[in-house]
Amino acid sequence: MSDIIKTEAVVLSKLNYGDTSSIVTLYTESDGKLSAIIKGGRGPKSKSGKIIDPLNHLQIIFYKKNTRDVQILSDANLISHFVNIKEDLDDTKYSFAIIELVKNLTVELEANAKLFKGLIKILNMINDKKEASTFLYGRFLLFFLSELGYELSIDKCSICGNDVVAKKSLGFDYNTGFVCSDCFESHSGLENVSAELFELIFCLKTNRLTEKFSVDLMDRFNLLLERYLKFHVSDFKGIQSFQIYR
Ligand SMILES: [Zn+2]
Repeated sequence: MSDIIKTEAVVLSKLNYGDTSSIVTLYTESDGKLSAIIKGGRGPKSKSGKIIDPLNHLQIIFYKKNTRDVQILSDANLISHFVNIKEDLDDTKYSFAIIELVKNLTVELEANAKLFKGLIKILNMINDKKEASTFLYGRFLLFFLSELGYELSIDKCSICGNDVVAKKSLGFDYNTGFVCSDCFESHSGLENVSAELFELIFCLKTNRLTEKFSVDLMDRFNLLLERYLKFHVSDFKGIQSFQIYR
């Protein structure tokens, strides 16, 4: 027996399968990440085949069986294909980096409604050009880290536990997170975090505006977070989209 599920989904990736079918990886609101086959999805008459492309936000119906590795998709309707994102190379690069994170770092069939909502929200913000995409990507990355259980504390030093004073330059340890200026001086092998970079991180964490900060500074922070994630998730190899769209 299988259940018929109607839910929303974001397409994470798509592969050809056999002569006429496709297999897609979806992030669904009801069941988290799953793979599904679209039988005959590459035929000229297939409606689903045409709208199921990476990044697209869909309403879908699928047959779910927990014992099966690949679910069966029966219908799909387009909610958004984020047309503005696809017209801009930078927006495309960061949006694909976001779906790559979700594809590589979430667990199959583990629902997370908050993560689904956050994913839809950030793709719409990039599409509506609410902020430069590198900043929106960084905001998503911070949110995603806390959903994965690797939230970064910005209040306390991750070595001595004292309050972090934002006016001075700080350190960053890929294992533990932010380090106060005293510990930064007394420990080796830590990254330097300038007062300006720390101010940017504070703005992102507290949902404040980032207009006065440069794209270069944001890129530096995104790289720091990517390395932090690599340190904690051993089979995470870094973001491929940044290599492709460089
Ligand atoms: Zn300290």
